Amino acid sequence: MSTLQILDGHNDTLTNIFPTQDGRRDESKSIIDRHGKGHIDLVRADRGGLCAGFFAIFIPGGAMDRRMITANDGTHVEAGCSDPVPYDIARLKCDSVLDRMESMLEQHGDRIRLVRSVDELRGSIDDGAMAMILHHEGVEMFDESLDDLEKDYARGLRSLGPVWSRSNAFAHGVPFAFPCTPDIGPGLTGAGRELVRRCNELGIMLDVSHLNYRGFMDIADLTDAPVVATHCGAHAVCASSRNLLDDQFDVIRDSGGLVGVNFHVGFLRPDGATDPETPLDVIADHLDYMVDRMGIEHVALGSDFDGATMPTPLGDCAGLPGIVEVLRTRGWTDDALHAMALGNWLRVLGDTWH
Ligand code: ZN
Repeated sequence: MSTLQILDGHNDTLTNIFPTQDGRRDESKSIIDRHGKGHIDLVRADRGGLCAGFFAIFIPGGAMDRRMITANDGTHVEAGCSDPVPYDIARLKCDSVLDRMESMLEQHGDRIRLVRSVDELRGSIDDGAMAMILHHEGVEMFDESLDDLEKDYARGLRSLGPVWSRSNAFAHGVPFAFPCTPDIGPGLTGAGRELVRRCNELGIMLDVSHLNYRGFMDIADLTDAPVVATHCGAHAVCASSRNLLDDQFDVIRDSGGLVGVNFHVGFLRPDGATDPETPLDVIADHLDYMVDRMGIEHVALGSDFDGATMPTPLGDCAGLPGIVEVLRTRGWTDDALHAMALGNWLRVLGDTWH
């Protein structure tokens, strides 16, 4: 049986191979072969069927601390919070990652390609090169004028999430808490609403992962594109603030969008523990729940490779076929697996990019 081709909704590999903070993470600096470090390189991607992915630029900020927060229903909970990075610093760091990314692509263009359209995405997959979709995870590298949006679009940006799990000039990210609702804090700012409008104009995909509930609903109301969560789970299975409620799934389904299920063990496990000894069946539980709620056309994978704690039985991207096998034993057909792995993404990106 040939390996299923997979487009994955989220990784932090650029943050790992092109660090913007001293001493942070693995500095092997090669996407080709990281000799077992991290979760993605092209050697292991070939083995796992990973043919395309959203590669995030994420600007790390200060350390995460624990703070008491109040959800919109009045309940108090201790949550992991951090502060935004100032625009000037975030812009410099983003440009530094973009420069290094471009020289990597120049050097290894036969094996990894930045794709800007569905035609380029299909062409890269057909040619056996890794297709890289450039994504901003939180837009602290933009100021409210949004002048940088078009500059980054010209360098290949085709997807962005307004926030990581912290507030910025555009929206409010959801702090990390368990068990906890994602309905914490207010919706988009005025600048955030303008960001949605400009992304729609340019055909940049908007990712609602890391947004709080009200920001999610504001994007759903404003956007003319499918609503996409590139790396989230089902709150009904794991009650993390990072996971989506049933009415959010309904909005995504009705918009023609999708959810890429996140493999971080703390967002997968019903007990919310960051325990790597987590069976692959738990990933299948999230997928099956989402399929029951939304239909097979609205699910995908959104690993969070290189940015999260993976289940030990998965390991890294070479372990992706293990998830496929679990789904087969649950009765998933070849058509269902193809839709989840690649087909749904091609539809959503076709409806979003122009
Ligand atoms: Zn993330």
